[in-house]
Amino acid sequence: MKRHVFSTTAFSGALLAAAAFASPAMAQDDEQFITIGTGGQTGVYYVVGQSICRLVNRLEDSDIKCNAPSTGGSVANINGIKSGELDMGVAQSDVQYQAYNGTGNFEGEPYEELRAVFRVHGEPLTLLARADSGIETLDDLEGKRVNIGNPGSGQRNTMEVVMDAKGWTEDTFSLASQLDAAEQAAALADNNVDAMVYVVGHPNGSIQEATTTVDARLIPLNDEDIQGIVDEYPYYSASVIPGGLYRGNDEDVETFGVAATFVTTAEADEEVIYQTVKAVFDNFDRFKRLHPAFENLVPEEMVTQGLSAPLHDGAARYYREQGWIE
Ligand code: GLU
Repeated sequence: MKRHVFSTTAFSGALLAAAAFASPAMAQDDEQFITIGTGGQTGVYYVVGQSICRLVNRLEDSDIKCNAPSTGGSVANINGIKSGELDMGVAQSDVQYQAYNGTGNFEGEPYEELRAVFRVHGEPLTLLARADSGIETLDDLEGKRVNIGNPGSGQRNTMEVVMDAKGWTEDTFSLASQLDAAEQAAALADNNVDAMVYVVGHPNGSIQEATTTVDARLIPLNDEDIQGIVDEYPYYSASVIPGGLYRGNDEDVETFGVAATFVTTAEADEEVIYQTVKAVFDNFDRFKRLHPAFENLVPEEMVTQGLSAPLHDGAARYYREQGWIE
């Protein structure tokens, strides 16, 4: 898995910049640099990371300097935390579960030092097809050109679960492309693929870009095989993409989904994680205004639901002070 970790040039560039900036020769004694792994720039993870950093960098009496580069997504973020190149990251709840327990793409390699910080917004599996592709149901993907997502992304991870349930392989499609999240909308609009798959909060820039540049439809994922997935795994649940968010998609669309979660490692400094969650929750109204997908977030739920790894000690300290956990 590791070789897939850093799939975007933006990420490596930002890391190099961060590394140079953080070199002991330049940093003041007490400054701490933290890097948060996000996702593609037209997704919501990028906004999660940028928003957290914005609040952390405003903290008074703190020398934490935070940056949140674009990355390949959930799996890349967890692998980046594991290898020490990232301090924290955003990851789908299914990926968090699989990484901590050593299942799925992490089979046999449980990452026991993985720590949960909080849950963020819901993320439905979003299948968007060109209106002229003839795709109306999930099964219609057979024989079509489908972007199944870059290795390292959460959508690729979840799409593989769907493909297993269907008994599909990459050969099921006439083309199984692996474009990064940020490249998908243009590929759909340019007719290089018939459909794209994205596990993402709504509304988001990528689906907006695709639906405004080409006639495209959100396809329901609610058949028996999907029901089977939801029944089998505790971290998947039925979900709805509300109608009216995107051009040409006025009706609600039934699908299934996960939650975005914020994670770190047990090795991360207790005070840094404490200060990071304090920055977010002391300024929670401001945080919620930074993206419409954050609108309905409730702190008590964010710290108790959708998390399978144990809470990081620094996060637990703040939540206990607030009376949100025992
Ligand atoms: N869920 C996607 C992933 O894990 C990222 C979605 C986003 O960037 O908002 O790769």
